[in-house]
Amino acid sequence: MTEVLEKQQERGTELGRISHWIGGQSVAGESGRSGPVYNPALGVQTREVDFASVEELDRAVQAAKEALVGWRQVSLSRRQELFFRIRELFHQRREDLAALLTEEHGKVFSDALGEVQRGLEVIEYACGIPTLLKGDFSEQASTGIDVYSIRQPMGVVAGITPFNFPAMVPMWMWAPALACGNAFILKPSEKDPSASVLTAQLLQEAGLPDGVFNVVHGDKVAVNAILEHPDIAAVSFVGSTPIARYIYSTGTANGKRVQALGGAKNHMIVLPDADLDMAADAAVSAAYGSAGERCMAISAVVTVGDIGDEFIAAVKERLPKVKVGPGTEPDNEMGPLITREHRDKVASYLDSGKEQGAEVVADGRESAPDGDGFFLGVSLLDKVTPEMDAYKDEIFGPVLSVVRAGTYDEAIKLVNENQYGNGVAIFTRDGGAARQFQHEVEVGMVGVNVPIPVPVAYYSFGGWKGSLFGDSHIYGPEGISFYTRGKVVTSRWPDPATSKVDLGFPQTR
Ligand code: NAD
Repeated sequence: MTEVLEKQQERGTELGRISHWIGGQSVAGESGRSGPVYNPALGVQTREVDFASVEELDRAVQAAKEALVGWRQVSLSRRQELFFRIRELFHQRREDLAALLTEEHGKVFSDALGEVQRGLEVIEYACGIPTLLKGDFSEQASTGIDVYSIRQPMGVVAGITPFNFPAMVPMWMWAPALACGNAFILKPSEKDPSASVLTAQLLQEAGLPDGVFNVVHGDKVAVNAILEHPDIAAVSFVGSTPIARYIYSTGTANGKRVQALGGAKNHMIVLPDADLDMAADAAVSAAYGSAGERCMAISAVVTVGDIGDEFIAAVKERLPKVKVGPGTEPDNEMGPLITREHRDKVASYLDSGKEQGAEVVADGRESAPDGDGFFLGVSLLDKVTPEMDAYKDEIFGPVLSVVRAGTYDEAIKLVNENQYGNGVAIFTRDGGAARQFQHEVEVGMVGVNVPIPVPVAYYSFGGWKGSLFGDSHIYGPEGISFYTRGKVVTSRWPDPATSKVDLGFPQTR
């Protein structure tokens, strides 16, 4: 066990309070409302987090507005220099950040480090901000007239994030937002809020001016205050589909720019020519990694043709080898679920699946480790059909459903008729079939023999259909565009002697 993980185990025994971070300092909540934070591997409450009132959110907005005045004037080269320092500091402190994720979310430490690493890639992309904000210039667009475009920050912007990536998803938002010259307010998930506080401290240590980054904890009171605040120009949201829809409709009705990423039901299609061992390895990794609590987790495998039995056998053989237990133990590969209620809800799909005609190949309740932790072992349902709840709902846990399709056409129809369109994967050795699939499939992120196709930081991340509300995907080039407003300048420097009145509509000549 590393020193960082040992420290974390000690911390798990003391009940700390998590406060807001406003104007560069920790600010204790005064609303009288708060919520519990658990160590899900132990099943005990470890901390209490303050929930902000409307007034407290306003205080953060005022701090951000004040800081914005100076921050907007900071040159691109200074911003870039700062982002290099931010990158270095987050890299140095990645184990501390990862330990907090293991402690409050429950994901195993190696996976938590992976989360931080993928977030760091977005910070690295933001280091290129001078290049990313370059505009266009057209000399002599009309005689004596030049035209050029510039991009300017939106102002004060906010991010509302889910529990499943407590460090990385905020990085998807704050890194491009700050690099573009905005001031930022983060409302992290109330279930695992500590990573956001460490993030605020590290940004300050790297030299970000106070007030440019603020953290306001809370529940829907804080979220509604963000959606209604007249001085917040843009809102990024990542979370479940019903809340994403609400955030988008309310935020845009209040005149804000909104990108709201929702839930998912990611399919993996296995064609008859696929290497079944490779497909089974990929399905097990992508279904059970982070206990299935990833918006890009594979939730349904669709086997095409008569490979169903062989595929199930290959997956079944691998299941007993998946080591489930506390994320602090280096050998463990899968940790607990986020709360007891969520674990029980996930497990209920094994019962409803059985009642509705599926075959329960593995019931994770039987293999879960003993103790009070919110564990569910790896679970597998076979012969799942589209009418079953286990297929229709986003389960968000370690339950993999296998659906049997006769043909490729049947398989792609399932994916395209699904309400979600976040990620999808195809496993095949046929390049032509894969190419046809990428062309036809109605999903935002497609993997060809890649089960979790999260785009690299210089592309943008986002789904289709019920997985995204708004026009803009997150991070990458679309992130830069989301956090800036375009301006086009038309300029001339004529000889005043040639000036005259001309009421005609300006034409280019
Ligand atoms: P959630 O929607 O319950 O919560 C997300 C955020 O919204 C949290 O900050 C929460 O405090 C807030 N919130 C919750 N209920 C609210 C309400 N009634 N009114 C206003 N705000 C509210 O999501 P979660 O359970 O934290 O995260 C899991 C979900 O996030 C899954 O559906 C998963 O697919 C999705 N997710 C999507 C992506 C993506 O990129 N598309 C990435 C990660 C997670």
